[in-house]
Amino acid sequence: MNVVLIGYRGCGKTTVGRLLAERNYLPFIDTDELIVHQAGKSIAEIFATGGEPAFRKLEETAIKLATKSKGRIISVGGGAVESKANRSALRKYGTVVWLQADAESLWKRISSDKKSVDQRPNLAAGGLEEVRQVLEKRSPVYADLAHVAITTTDRHPSAIVEDIEAWLDSQ
Ligand code: ADP
Ligand code: MG
Repeated sequence: MNVVLIGYRGCGKTTVGRLLAERNYLPFIDTDELIVHQAGKSIAEIFATGGEPAFRKLEETAIKLATKSKGRIISVGGGAVESKANRSALRKYGTVVWLQADAESLWKRISSDKKSVDQRPNLAAGGLEEVRQVLEKRSPVYADLAHVAITTTDRHPSAIVEDIEAWLDSQ
């Protein structure tokens, strides 16, 4: 099995995933990083040339590749769950952990994260209102797919990692 981290952009999938992997001596794969590596282009460039459909196609390939092996910590993009093929692969090959945060915290993190703003400018354009709307639409999808939901609001990444470890140990 793999441990798959899902959730809205800025919820901490990459940060928490990397830490969880380090602490447990497991390989870590971030599908956004895998896409950039395989395409030889930044996410902003992929969006600029082929739009969101081009990115989603590459993401499906990356998720298939990432879930091929076992014993990995995998973090995926916030919108990956919109694809049925991705949902099936993630659920079939992973224990799925949803990192939750409220819209205000997410917006604060996204807008102050230079990497995030540079890489995905078009996705940060709608501000807090967009985060609220998309989060509302996507939350049932995250909830449905996840085996467990872990709250990240006002919590340090290392405390979140401990929560995930405790939950995994209890299984
Ligand atoms: P994701 O991969 O889900 O988009 P990241 O791990 O890239 O999220 O985190 C987005 C931003 O939020 C980064 O600047 C990161 O340092 C910050 N961040 C991540 N987790 C937390 C947390 N628990 N509390 C506060 N800030 C966080
Ligand atoms: Mg990430």
